[in-house]
Amino acid sequence: MRNWYIAMGLLAMGLTTQGYALNAKETQLKDFVAAHVEKIKPLEKQANLAWWEAAVTGDPKAYDRNSEMTLQLRQVYSNASEFAMLKELKESGQITDPLLGRQLTVLYNAYLSNQIEPDLLKQIVELGTHIEKNFSTFRGSIDGKRVTDNEITDILKNETDSAKRQSAWQASKQVGAAVGADLVRLVKLRNEAARKLGFDNYHTMALATGEQDVKDLDKIFNELYELTNKPFAALKEDLDRTLARKHGLTPDKLMPWHYHDPFFQETPMVYDLDLDAYYKDKDVKALAERFYAGIGLPVDEILAKSDLYEKEGKNPHAFCTHIDREGDVRVLCNLKNDEYWMETILHELGHGVYDKYLDYDTPYLLRSPAHSFTTEATAMFFGRLSRNPAWMQGMLDLSKKQRAEIEKVSDKYAQLKQLIFARWDMVMYYFEKGLYANPDQDLTKLWWDLVEKYQLVKRPAGRTNPDWAAKIHFAAAPCYYHNYMLGEMLASQWQHTLVTKVLALKSDKGVSYIGKKKAGRYLREKVFDAGALYPWNEMIRRSTGEPLTAKYFVQQFVK
Ligand SMILES: [Zn+2]
Repeated sequence: MRNWYIAMGLLAMGLTTQGYALNAKETQLKDFVAAHVEKIKPLEKQANLAWWEAAVTGDPKAYDRNSEMTLQLRQVYSNASEFAMLKELKESGQITDPLLGRQLTVLYNAYLSNQIEPDLLKQIVELGTHIEKNFSTFRGSIDGKRVTDNEITDILKNETDSAKRQSAWQASKQVGAAVGADLVRLVKLRNEAARKLGFDNYHTMALATGEQDVKDLDKIFNELYELTNKPFAALKEDLDRTLARKHGLTPDKLMPWHYHDPFFQETPMVYDLDLDAYYKDKDVKALAERFYAGIGLPVDEILAKSDLYEKEGKNPHAFCTHIDREGDVRVLCNLKNDEYWMETILHELGHGVYDKYLDYDTPYLLRSPAHSFTTEATAMFFGRLSRNPAWMQGMLDLSKKQRAEIEKVSDKYAQLKQLIFARWDMVMYYFEKGLYANPDQDLTKLWWDLVEKYQLVKRPAGRTNPDWAAKIHFAAAPCYYHNYMLGEMLASQWQHTLVTKVLALKSDKGVSYIGKKKAGRYLREKVFDAGALYPWNEMIRRSTGEPLTAKYFVQQFVK
């Protein structure tokens, strides 16, 4: 990336990367970018610091400060005359310098998604908040008795009586009826906003501002569908036989409530895989630190700034944040020595090394991962190691026999987990596409058509309840769910390049990456260094030799 550094020097002198003088439009953009960065840089840093403090302490004042800063940032990006100027520059065709052109794209998209008319935006935000509040306070009931989500989960995991399972599953869907009509109203408001900005509907607009296109995504998801059809059907038949036996049924009598979570998005716990015992006497933080140092991506500076253990008032989940785009990267965890937290800290530090090892000579606006799903892919790539038998043997000093024991179940478990998730994610992607294209259609029918097609789960007869609306993501994180699957695919695509090209191995069997500095160097040079200099698919092509594809995901998980 050193050539970009030279480009920056040239830009400062008013020259293009080719050494020509900047034209008038380019100079105008260059000055705008400089002033813009000066304005947002302190706001972003303050917002991130407030968010961090809020998560670590639970202090309401920190939450308020974060909202205040976020609002100020939003005001910057909703400025209509600045957006008009950026649009004019974009349409002029005169921004030919690649580095300036890329910054213009990033700025344009950030402004575009904030150009919704204030009145309409207010309605959208208020209705969205209202729905989310209903979600968090709603409790389903079984035989008139209110139950919590945890009680429902517990029944679906352990109960053997089919009638009781059915009641629990139905209770999990009652929130759908409570928020369904509001959600459809919200979808229509979002569509109205998108149409005013020149898009078919909100789904197309949300994709476009994330530099994604329905046609490309359809192609990738269709490839995934075709490649997983047969193997998924075979795995599911096997799973159904096991589940049916547990419930004293024949497999054709299995209904949605016989799976172990309300949406059949997770692996039912029918194959015993208890890895916690292997981590019980270890220190997951030390293991992660040693592993990352071994591949040449040390994380000690990140860990020193992080908050890793449980305490009163602290956010109970985990995340990684880059405070200032200048290397202040932190991870929040609530570590315990078990497999779940081993995966989590490897995952969060996967985000962490992407941010930490960005090229800091890149302009501020491009100093970030290429896309939210590309950093997710890095995190998933590393997170998967916590149940990789070769990695576990190497890091935990296991015997050959112990490793063989893990291998017996872990491959099957990984296959099932990944295929179940892939088929579920297809339901989410195609449903959301249909929902925004035509919110007036029979959405319950659309939902169950997709569930039957992709998950091979039978619809209960005569079902009219808006079961789809029980998924909070449609309200809280619209048009985003497909990115989880893109992340999984990309993690496998990198694995393929690492195994076949970087480490030059015959297959991925037994690969653990322990001590493989070449692997760390590859990610740093081909992925992290590039930041957001290229659109995501261009970065993927540069780092793997081809655009994003489902085939390596299938190769890795369909055996
Ligand atoms: Zn993540």
